[in-house]
Formats: sequence, C-alpha cells, structure tokens
Amino acid sequence: MDLTYSPDQEDFRDRARSWLAANVPTAPLPSPATADGVAAHREWERLLHEAGFAALHWPREHGGGGAGLVEQALFAEEYVKAGAPVRLNRLALTLAGPTVMALGSAEQRERWLPGMLTCDELWCQGFSEPEAGSDLAGVRTRGEIDGDKLVVTGQKVWTSLSAFAQWMFALVRTDSAQRRHRGLTFVMIPMDAAGVELRPIRQLHGEPGFSEVFLTGVRVPVGNVVGDIGAGWTVAMTTLGFERGGLGDHARFARDVGDLVELARRAGVADDPVVRDEVAARFVEVQQFRRHVELVTSRLAAGTPVDAQASITKLYWSEMEARIFETALRILGPLAELTVEAPMNLAAPGLHRRYWHARASRIFAGTSEVQRNIIAERVLGLPREPRWTPT
Ligand SMILES: Cc1cc2nc3c(=O)[nH]c(=O)nc-3n(C[C@H](O)[C@H](O)[C@H](O)COP(=O)(O)OP(=O)(O)OC[C@H]3O[C@@H](n4cnc5c(N)ncnc54)[C@H](O)[C@@H]3O)c2cc1C
Repeated sequence: MDLTYSPDQEDFRDRARSWLAANVPTAPLPSPATADGVAAHREWERLLHEAGFAALHWPREHGGGGAGLVEQALFAEEYVKAGAPVRLNRLALTLAGPTVMALGSAEQRERWLPGMLTCDELWCQGFSEPEAGSDLAGVRTRGEIDGDKLVVTGQKVWTSLSAFAQWMFALVRTDSAQRRHRGLTFVMIPMDAAGVELRPIRQLHGEPGFSEVFLTGVRVPVGNVVGDIGAGWTVAMTTLGFERGGLGDHARFARDVGDLVELARRAGVADDPVVRDEVAARFVEVQQFRRHVELVTSRLAAGTPVDAQASITKLYWSEMEARIFETALRILGPLAELTVEAPMNLAAPGLHRRYWHARASRIFAGTSEVQRNIIAERVLGLPREPRWTPT
C-alpha cells in the first residue's frame, strides 16, 4: 500500500479545497427527501457540474472528470470536511450511469447521461420487491413484449427518491418459463408513464421521498432495455458491481466521532470513564476503517479487483455507523427521548435522523447477514450455507 500523494494529487486537493471553501452553501440545505430539499440540492448539483466536480469518476468522453481513484478519494474527503451537502443523484451517478456506459447503446448514452450529470433528471432504483430483496433473483414484476413496447406490471418496494425521480432503472421478468436468474430484463422506466402509481412509505422522520411503486400495464419502448432482453441479471450484477462501498466516507465518520466528543461535553459526561472508553472505541474503529479504505483504493488504483472484498467495506462501515449513533444516544441517556424543539434537548438537529438512517444502512445495498455470507463463502472460502428446503 502506497500512502504518499504525488504533487499533482496534492495540487488537485488544494484546488478542490479552495473551490469548496468558496462555494459550499453556508446554511445546511433542507433534506433531499423533501420537495424543497430536492430543489435546493439540484441547484448545488448544477454548481458542482459547472465546476467539473459532479462526476469525477466518469470518463471525460461521457462528460465526467476522468479522475483517478486517489483523486476521487481526496475529493470525497475534502467534500465532507467542507460540510458540503449530500449528493442528490447518487443512484444515477454511481449505478445507472456507469451501467449505461458499460452496456448501453450509443443512443442510450446520449439520451440519459447528460441529464444525470446536470441533475435535470433524477433516478431511482427499482430492484426490490415484496418477495425479492436479499434474494433479488425472485423478481416477479412481469414485462411482456407487445410490438415495440415492453408492458410492465408488478410492484417494487423501498424505492428511495421515487417521489421525485424522473426515471427508474428496474429489473423485470420477461420470460416466466425461466426461473431465478434467467428470463430477467433490465429496463429504464419513465416515472410519468401511464400506469405508474406511487404509494408513499411513511418513515419515522416523516419525509416523503420513499415509496412503493405499483406498475400496471406500463408501456415502455423496447429501446429502453439495456443489454439484451432476458440478459437482465448480467446487467444488474454489473450495476451492483459499481457499489464500491464508501471510498472517502471515513471523513464523514471521523466528523461524527468528533461530534460525539462535543455531545459528551454538552451532556456533562466527558469525564465519565465509561463514556470515554466508548467514544475512544468509536475513534479507533474509524481510524481502522480509514486504513482499510486506503488499502482498497491503493489496490483498485493498481488495477487489482477487490470483488467480494467490497462486502467487508460495506459490512464494516454500516455496522460502525450504527454503533456511532448508538453511542450518541447512550451519551444522551434519558434525554435521547426528547425532540429537537424540547427546552432540555442537547442533540444537534439531524442526530435522530442519522441514528434512524444508520439502522437502515445495515439493510440497504445488501444486509449485514448477506454480506457475512459473501465474506464467509467468497473471501474466506468456507463451505456454502446449506439451502433451506421446505419439508
Ligand atoms: C432505507 C432503505 C432504502 C432502500 N432503497 C432501495 C431502493 O432505492 N431500491 C431498491 O430496489 N431497494 C431499496 N431498498 C431495499 C433493500 O435493498 C432491501 O431491503 C434489502 O435488500 C433486504 O431485502 P428485504 O427487505 O426484502 O429483506 P429480506 O431479504 O426478506 O431479509 C429479511 C432478513 O433475513 C435475512 N436474510 C435474508 N437472506 C438471508 C440469507 N441467505 N442468510 C442469512 N440471512 C438472510 C436478512 O439479512 C434480513 O435480516 C432499501 C432499503 C432500505 C432500508
């Protein structure tokens, strides 16, 4: 592992740092899971795009920054340190866009990539269904070919940002005679098409972005299929392969641990040895994570694929994030029950939201149990779990 940065990389870091210092909004933007928040984040995304920072990881030929992995990690670190807003169109920039670049036609690239970069078109992910979460091959939403249209009927669930998205990249079953991974197709569905109905899922924080998506006879041009009809599993695995697992996010977690120290001071428990032990443990975990991310970045930059080891990254950060916010609530003790508006409240705005979200991090992008299975079988080479069969 090489931890030194070249002069060019240091220059890049300085340039990114100065631009962020001059442009990051001074007040926090409203949550991106609300209509006001989406509008405000779109403005911010436009600024990022104009400065060439919207998609550093995309090749220049597709309008991206063409930056190396180390520059991407440096930017991500500076981004968090500058307190910049969370990214709005993440699913487009990290999943849908790279999939279209890898497996889409020239026409599809021209149609979809520019709107992802400018954030004029927001994207959501329509993979999960009531009977297909961890077991994605269980997808039942049907797609029937009718001339030059694919007619889609079924239900997606837990669709983040669906209330505001213009497009959904979805996995549908086009051949019901085939089972599991075969007979699936990857298709881009316009969210304003007739037959798309959203039923909001109410969340603890009350924000409206999350929904179930019901699809009834939705007619989608066959030209919106990415890859071949019936080859959707390969396309979906390409998509999920782009989830690299939080390069640069260690800066966000380091900031969160700094916030724990502040919180302990405000709560008057900064000298409590139990609290000190717990906060120190969180600090050490974040430092370990940073080293892990540097190792992964260094390997990827040298062209060594990390494959199933990406599960270690996802498992580590999501479990660590949950522990950080559990520590925050333990520091607050009974005061953790108070709302932000309560006179005796000590929690910073957003702390409870982050606590709830950290619990969801153990579920989305592959649950912790599923990540442990992958690590056991494909990293450590342990025997496969026995398949459960009904008696
Ligand atoms: C906040 C949030 C946002 C999300 N956003 C999206 C989105 O935008 N688009 C989208 O398509 N999906 C999204 N999801 C869905 C997410 O991908 C699924 O929730 C996840 O894949 C788990 O599937 P499931 O909920 O059906 O649970 P299940 O797969 O039914 O799992 C239930 C439990 O069984 C365990 N389990 C399952 N299989 C195994 C196994 N083989 N071995 C051991 N344990 C197992 C799981 O770990 C879990 O604890 C989101 C989820 C959340 C929480």
